[in-house]
Amino acid sequence: MQLEFSDKLELLGGDAANDLACQSCAANPNAAVVTHRANQPLAAPEPPTRPRDLKPWLAYAMRSDGKRIPVVKTLMTSACEKDCYYCATRRGRNAARRETFKPEELAAGFNLIQQRGLAQGLFLSSGVIGGGTRTMEKTIAAADLIRRKYEFRGYIHLKLMPGAERAAIERAIQLADRVSVNLEAPNTARLRKLSGTKHFTAELLAPLRAARALMREQPALARTSMVTQFVVGPAGETDREIIATAIRLYQELRLARIYFNAFRPISETPLENHAPTDPLRALRLYQTDFLLRQYGFTLDELLFDANGLLPLDTDPKTAYALAHPEKFPLDVQTAERAELLRVPGLGPKSAQRILDLRRTHTFTTIQELKNLGADAERAARFILLNGKQPARQLALFSV
Ligand code: SF4
Repeated sequence: MQLEFSDKLELLGGDAANDLACQSCAANPNAAVVTHRANQPLAAPEPPTRPRDLKPWLAYAMRSDGKRIPVVKTLMTSACEKDCYYCATRRGRNAARRETFKPEELAAGFNLIQQRGLAQGLFLSSGVIGGGTRTMEKTIAAADLIRRKYEFRGYIHLKLMPGAERAAIERAIQLADRVSVNLEAPNTARLRKLSGTKHFTAELLAPLRAARALMREQPALARTSMVTQFVVGPAGETDREIIATAIRLYQELRLARIYFNAFRPISETPLENHAPTDPLRALRLYQTDFLLRQYGFTLDELLFDANGLLPLDTDPKTAYALAHPEKFPLDVQTAERAELLRVPGLGPKSAQRILDLRRTHTFTTIQELKNLGADAERAARFILLNGKQPARQLALFSV
């Protein structure tokens, strides 16, 4: 039976739902913002919920200018020759209904959606059929039509497929604002626990490395950003392994972001009986990722338990501060920027404002820090204001 474009998009959009690598692709746009913040309250995040009237293909992406936009998020095909043990689209899974877009069909359908103002961008992934390069020929053909025939200048995110060749990668970078390869695991040994047909270095790292090499050779291509995603939990990997790999990826490949997808089992897959991963674990990884990228933390400063896991009951920045009583409380008036950034409750913006203002101003109350955007109550026990601990001010106020 031939399906209408809209019916196909419902199916292929639903199949793409597990990929977080377009940033904030949770169905509930608010849930994604909460999940990605560094200075996070300690409660576990609610799993994203999708309002009933929201289309399965509708997601939200963050453009490089920081603007959140609605995007069409879909697979080109839900047929796949790979066997990833966690995936609803894996080969041989009977429950999966397979559908495939033709490039012109997808391009024309997307054009209608964006012209009606329902989306401002496209996130296009795909199952793998005929190898990475042949698969990318289809996604590239669709993106090419969208750019040239339909003259769409907005946001496009394209997947680089496992084992794709350099020419396909180059064309994808030319067409897209963002490209990604989901590594899913932090190294070869862990990936073997997730797939018998994907190869970590030759098939997944290689396209990212090729993309970075192209960007070095042709600086104009470097306007396209690169991201990746890990599926957290089912390979038995530790948080330390994930974070160590993340640091290497940021350094070597200059990735814009890394996403952490808490594993949830899917029926009729080899991991259907594996326990789901606590979403709080993914949140701790996001918080840690922020500490690395925006606060200047190093691997050595992070606290892991004996199993290599981040504490779940405390955010990683507070865990650091509590483990270093010799460094706190520190004097807001004289502390270095790097020291301020290690105070729970102070972020890069509030730290910078403190540095700017303190040249002419002496901070004496936590309200002054609040006015700068700091989470001053949280910071209070770790700082001195005018030589005194504001925690005592708080105690006095609360009597
Ligand atoms: S390559 Fe793996 S994760 Fe991607 S669609 Fe195929 S089975 Fe799923």
